[in-house]
Amino acid sequence: MTQPEPTLSVVVPMFNEESVLPLLAPRLRAALDELGEAYEVVAVDDGSTDATPAVLAGLRRGWPQLRVIRLRRNSGHQAALTAGLFRARGDYVASIDADLQDPPEAIGEMLRLARSRGLDIVYGVRHDRSTDSPFKRWTAGLYYRLVRRLVGNSIPDQAGDFRLLSRATVAALRELPEQRPVLRLVVPWLGFPSGEVSYVREERAAGRTKYTLSRMFRLATDSITSFSAAPLRMATWLGAGGVVLCAVLLVVVFVAYLLDYTVAGWPSLYVAILFLGAVQLLCLGLLGEYVARIYVAVQGRPSYFIGSDTLESDRTVNADH
Ligand code: UDP
Ligand code: MG
Repeated sequence: MTQPEPTLSVVVPMFNEESVLPLLAPRLRAALDELGEAYEVVAVDDGSTDATPAVLAGLRRGWPQLRVIRLRRNSGHQAALTAGLFRARGDYVASIDADLQDPPEAIGEMLRLARSRGLDIVYGVRHDRSTDSPFKRWTAGLYYRLVRRLVGNSIPDQAGDFRLLSRATVAALRELPEQRPVLRLVVPWLGFPSGEVSYVREERAAGRTKYTLSRMFRLATDSITSFSAAPLRMATWLGAGGVVLCAVLLVVVFVAYLLDYTVAGWPSLYVAILFLGAVQLLCLGLLGEYVARIYVAVQGRPSYFIGSDTLESDRTVNADH
């Protein structure tokens, strides 16, 4: 390799994007050439089954800054992104979708902002999603509301996976023991100084969305369960509610029994079933509480990070928890 060490890496995960690549390549290249930085583009071919590998091979011949990483099988957007991030060599690493929904020209703006204000993370924030379908906007809105509620407010609204990270941020991500990090949640959680660049979300330049409903659902469940044990605790609440309800009904049934409003045998059966159901839920919830603790322990995330402005520390992950 005769290429100089890049100061900027751009990671592009792609799955079956043969139709969009011929549009992406010239636009991305023009935007990056203009910056006058030593850059590299890390294309992560997420096990495409169409002509994507061939198109990439063709592009590589005339574009020395293009690196291609191919995943053996389709592993999903987040996994492809992670693979690219960890192999990027630049001082700053941007990530962008292949379908030109995010404008490559904004990467320069992100880089300038990061440098001028000394930021480690710059999010691309979609202020206008009018080109996305109403269904996509609705599900996205629901996703961000739910996730912000469960994870906390540190997540910028409407920030997807179009962003710029510093070397230090990528290194911190690497230190996490997690196998399947949901990047858009883990990145803000790292707590580095961050800024935003707003942009207009464009329509997909070609091809079809690779995010099927089941993939969206998977991302949502991964997002919630990777940051919150709340769903595990639901049984506790349901069980507790059941016990209260049972107590109230016990009174109602008893009164009905006294007034002779019941069929013989019904009150005892009714209360017994309700009571057992509630006790079962309560026990499940209790189990859930322990599973939740195991889950947090197994995740093994450090409970805090030392900031870069601390005198002795060199930003390494602190492990004494
Ligand atoms: N993608 C990927 N692997 C997958 C699914 C998607 O690498 O299994 C890529 C895809 O090629 C695109 C990006 O992830 O570059 C975002 O996907 P898409 O545009 O289909 O999602 P949407 O914008 O509709 O949410
Ligand atoms: Mg897209």
